[in-house]
Amino acid sequence: MLAFLRKRKDVSGVLVYKLDRLSRNMSDYSTLEEMEGIEIISVTEALPSGASGRFVASIHAAVSRLYSDQLGERVRHAARTKVKKGGWPGPAPTGYINDVENKTLRPDPNMGPIVKLVFETYAREDISLSRLVKRAKALGLRTRKGSVLPKGSLHHLLRNPIYYGMIRWEGNLYRGNHEPLISKALFDAVQERLKGGSSPMTKRSFPYRGLMKCGYCGCKITASLIKGKYVYYHCTHGKGPCSQGFLREEDLGELFIPIVEKVILSRDMVRQLLQGVQEEGKRRKREASQRIRALNRQRTELHEMRDRAYEDKLTGKIGEKRWLEMEQRWTDQEESLMNQISALSTKEGPADDEAEATFKLLQRAPELYKRQSHAERARLLKVLLSNSILMGDKLEPVYKKPFDLVAEGVYSGNWLPG
Ligand SMILES: [Zn+2]
Repeated sequence: MLAFLRKRKDVSGVLVYKLDRLSRNMSDYSTLEEMEGIEIISVTEALPSGASGRFVASIHAAVSRLYSDQLGERVRHAARTKVKKGGWPGPAPTGYINDVENKTLRPDPNMGPIVKLVFETYAREDISLSRLVKRAKALGLRTRKGSVLPKGSLHHLLRNPIYYGMIRWEGNLYRGNHEPLISKALFDAVQERLKGGSSPMTKRSFPYRGLMKCGYCGCKITASLIKGKYVYYHCTHGKGPCSQGFLREEDLGELFIPIVEKVILSRDMVRQLLQGVQEEGKRRKREASQRIRALNRQRTELHEMRDRAYEDKLTGKIGEKRWLEMEQRWTDQEESLMNQISALSTKEGPADDEAEATFKLLQRAPELYKRQSHAERARLLKVLLSNSILMGDKLEPVYKKPFDLVAEGVYSGNWLPG
């Protein structure tokens, strides 16, 4: 859709059924919002147009995503249950294929032996990970989609305990019910080698990287470790030399302070944001109870059908065998209905606390920022900013939505619809 809109300059608006349909992916939504002259119109949610309308729309999108995340949490719960029973909860990793019938993994007859060979090669030969990438490619190792595994993916593969029969899930190991491709001893030998070599894990991290562009030439700002201990940020010089010098990490961290301080959520605003979350929660609860009522009606119909069939069996209209078959099917159907009902009933109207905490955290952002490590500071900055512009030691912030409106003071206090 985005590509289409970029091409067609005569389109002036996008009509959406509901904002969260559009904005599962917040970045798509932001891109859409930034497009010149395109109005987002939601059919089911009344929104005023213009800047304040867009602000409300951003909040709606953020709130909807919060709920999607909770949906994600329920899906993760189902996955965890499966893993505890020894099942693999997703698409098969390279070397295996999903055995849908037995709900487990089985070795891929083509890739399985190659995966094993790659493990053996790395354990026995004095070969670097980069060389191993080339070797694996030559051996024919490919993903399910047929592409070559880059270094990061290969490293990931070598660290995956699935190949000796275990499943790593949320930091724990579970015994899988699939057939191992390699022995535990071989896996351990590979882990030893990975620890010894220059694994990607041991690289120094540069937290502020990815947040800035060079104001002189437009290239990205990256970082280097000088004399093994000082971190300096500088232009990548991707388009040739420019005037941007080197900036120490400590100094850069200070430059961001006034930028964070500009993002102030007033108490009134937090209150209105929370109200938005709560209304969304109520609406979803209403939807759930409607659905539960419909499911219960189906259950009642099912019971009536069973009663009639039982009578038919007693009067000899249907035979014992046929009746048992039908009973089995109905039992399955009833169980499925009960599962759906219980999933809908346990759907807590939960996010209120979580949302409150998030908004309050934002409110305290400047104060918190100063007390954080560089890594934690950068995490907050990545929420607020994208590609700010660095020129010498001057930093021009580029706020993400909706923080741009907050920072620029567009917020007037009466943007809520109705
Ligand atoms: Zn530059």
